[in-house]
Amino acid sequence: SGKVICVAVFFIAALITLVAIAFVQNKPIPQKYKYGIVLDAGSSHTAVYIYEWPAEKENNTGMVRQRHTCAVKGKGISSYAQKSSGAGQSLMECIEDAKGNIPADKHEETPVYLGATAGMRLLRMQDSESAEEVMTSVKATLMSSPFDYQGARIISGQEEGAFGWITVNYLGKNFRKAAGTMGALDLGGASTQITFVSGQSVESPDNSMDFRLYGNDYQLYTHSFLCYGKDQVLKLALEKRLMPVETSLEDPCFHPGYSEKKSVKNVFDTPCVHTINKEDMDKSFTHNGTGNFTECQSSIMKVFNFSQCTNSRCSFNGVYQPPIEGTFGAFSAFYFVMNFLNLTGHSLADSKRGLEVYCNTPWDAIKERHPTVKHKYLAEYCFSGTYILTLLENGYNFTFENWKHISFIDKIEDSNAGWTLGYMLNLTNMIPAEAPDTPLMPHG
Ligand code: AMP
Repeated sequence: SGKVICVAVFFIAALITLVAIAFVQNKPIPQKYKYGIVLDAGSSHTAVYIYEWPAEKENNTGMVRQRHTCAVKGKGISSYAQKSSGAGQSLMECIEDAKGNIPADKHEETPVYLGATAGMRLLRMQDSESAEEVMTSVKATLMSSPFDYQGARIISGQEEGAFGWITVNYLGKNFRKAAGTMGALDLGGASTQITFVSGQSVESPDNSMDFRLYGNDYQLYTHSFLCYGKDQVLKLALEKRLMPVETSLEDPCFHPGYSEKKSVKNVFDTPCVHTINKEDMDKSFTHNGTGNFTECQSSIMKVFNFSQCTNSRCSFNGVYQPPIEGTFGAFSAFYFVMNFLNLTGHSLADSKRGLEVYCNTPWDAIKERHPTVKHKYLAEYCFSGTYILTLLENGYNFTFENWKHISFIDKIEDSNAGWTLGYMLNLTNMIPAEAPDTPLMPHG
């Protein structure tokens, strides 16, 4: 019987060993993740994006994803021109939030970048010293964080356009497909960008950017229109109606019954508009809505200059643009506005009809219908929607025909469309020039 016990013990031990081996083998190998942080210091607000990717697969397209975002409280960093230390201070809460979101043992190796866009480009034009001070302040905050500080700078309009294009095509996994890429349309508060691959060679060097990505060469056409973001362009449109400065202004881009007292200074305190004398600056005016889409569109047409073009073709303001080609993703405020107006899936003709009705709706009815929407946004959707249609159709030359090739998008697979991801991929060398392991996929 001792022999039997011995054999039984042996078998039980063997069984336990086998179960243990099977358990270990089936348990998923713990994934090693890496992290990166990019702060988008926009004209109206700053957003913090945390990205993550599996450590072994960082060179594959589509592997980096957005893990978390944090919206900085208050306005954009350019609003701290007169009290620059507040700029860095404003980021603290989101930096604390990032510390809690990334495993502590990874903090030290996690790169953090800050890119400031058109709000800071305008401040730099207006007051370069204040702009420097603001950048120094945000830099100090990021350097005092546990993360690996990699720089805080004002990025150029070309970079903003090109990195937005990289983001949407990386997330759409378009780089390794033969099907081609998607153009990018970005609308901010202070500037707007258009970027796409054109079959024609790009005539002006300022509008051309070359990339070699995953074994393919891309020549991008890109342009950033400073002052044509939706907040600055509203000032441009108001300026046209306010000269000479009077006490009231009738505006077809605001709802009938809308009436608000505003200061002249709010319109003219930007390098995007003409300078006026100090006396006029201190005045105020009553902004009255009349709610008329067609008249609103004619008033917006006046902010574009179509008369001079020294190239073979132009969009507006004498800026070269090759003919529109392929599909486009339109994001940021293009999406916010068109989504609010329920116009993301409509034809250009239907969008115009929709806006006609919307702009003409009395302000009281609009407020009643949307009690929770931020007052400033709500008051401006008629203007912003009309601007978007006009910019796309008359500015960029989209047509009733190719309008359907524009997708208004917020996110692709849980990651926001915008320049931040493309910026990080580029600076961390995560997009190789040559295709890594697997061969180019034929289609789809
Ligand atoms: P920026 O701060 O330069 O990135 O610009 C963002 C623009 O989008 C600003 O004009 C904001 O006012 C605007 N914006 C942000 N969220 C919304 C929203 N939910 N509805 C309308 N406009 C928005």
